[in-house]
Order: sequence, then structure tokens, then C-alpha cells
Amino acid sequence: MTSLRTRERLIQRLRDQGVTNMRVLDVMLNTPRHIFLDEALSHRAYEDTALPIGHGQTISQPYIVARMTEVLLGAAGGNLQKVLEVGTGSGYQTSVLAQLVPQVYSVERIKPLQDKARDRLRQLGLRNVQMRHADGGFGWPEAGPYDGIISTAAPQAIPDELLKQLAPGGVLVIPVGGREQQLHLVIRDGESDKFVTRVLEPVKFVPFLSGTAR
Ligand code: SAH
Repeated sequence: MTSLRTRERLIQRLRDQGVTNMRVLDVMLNTPRHIFLDEALSHRAYEDTALPIGHGQTISQPYIVARMTEVLLGAAGGNLQKVLEVGTGSGYQTSVLAQLVPQVYSVERIKPLQDKARDRLRQLGLRNVQMRHADGGFGWPEAGPYDGIISTAAPQAIPDELLKQLAPGGVLVIPVGGREQQLHLVIRDGESDKFVTRVLEPVKFVPFLSGTAR
């Protein structure tokens, strides 16, 4: 179930769906997604689907992890030193980012999920991730600005704070909407307060909620 063949099949599926960034595909081939799931579900880890991780949340579908990471890297034009992730969840997307970006900051509102994710990243030896238990709607201003921000939960509208914490030329990748959601790419136009937005494709994420939970 965790064999190289099984993982290779998943990577082939991602390529069939249009993912082309070889660095992203290579990192995903070598990241053990099964350790981000409870044992009862780990046999399904290399299926291309979202799966429950408790607390009403899900680990993102591999295709969407690949796609968002590829969009982030592509739009930032090789200039990605520091990234903020909102919605650590299982830590799977975090671990993919941590292998591609020097500094990763990740915010999660549900404490037990964050604690498990921290253990998994440690287990993988990924030491370039800082985590915070907080409402990501406020970003993480003390550590910003960020070259990239990625949200793995969908707000109804893009929080202003996230836009404010983008560095000049910084890139935000975020699902937006309720029952119907679209993946958005927002790029800060130089030093200005102008933002260029592109709507990429329909997606399905858990809602972006305010406040924190223990
Ligand atoms: N990338 C994660 C996705 C987890 S689902 C994974 O693959 O495992 C999205 C996560 O966003 C959930 O854990 C949810 O608790 C968290 N979330 C939702 N709204 C949030 C907010 N305002 N601040 C921080 N985390 C939030």
C-alpha cells in the first residue's frame, strides 16, 4: 500500500490531470501521505481523494495539493523564501511546502490537529516550519510579509489581513466561496496596494472559520 508503485500511480494520475511541475511531483512522490492519516484510513492514502482527519476536517486531495503548490511556485517566479499557510490540518500540504520553500509558517485553529501535525513534521525531519494555534483570518503579521500565502480552507471573501501581509510581488492562492467555490490566485502588484486576481478553477474545501478551538 505504501510501495513505490502505488505512489508512482498517484503521481501519474496527477500528471494526467495536468500537473507539470517536476519539483512538486518529485516531492509528492517522496512524501509518505499515509503517516498523515489515522491507521484505519491509511490504506487509502494514495487514492486521489480528500479523507477525514477528525474534528470535521479533511486532508486535501493530492491533486489539489499539487495544483495549489504548482500555482504558488509558478506565480512567484522562483522568488519564494517565506510562505504562510492557513489551515495546517493534517500537515500534509505543510510538509510538501517545507520541502520546496526555505521558511514555512502555518496557522491552525484546532489545537489537537496542530499538535498531531507538529509530531508528523518532526518525524519527517522537517525543521523549517513554525506553527501557531490561531485564527488565520488575521494571518501571522509578526512573521510577515510573505512571498506566498496559501489557504486550505475557503472563506466567503478574501481576508484583508492576508492581502496586507503579502510582500511586493507576493502571491496568494486561496479557495473562495460557500457551496460553490473557485480557486483564486492574487498577486500584489509591486509595492503598491493594487492586486491582480485570477479565478482558476472550481474546488471544494472545508469552510474558513473564525476563532479557535481546543
Ligand atoms: N492542508 C490540510 C487541509 C486541512 S482542512 C491537509 O491537507 O490536511 C483545512 C484546515 O483549515 C482545517 O484543519 C481547519 O481547522 C483549518 N481552518 C479553517 N479555518 C481556519 C482559520 N480561520 N484559521 C486557521 N485554520 C483554519
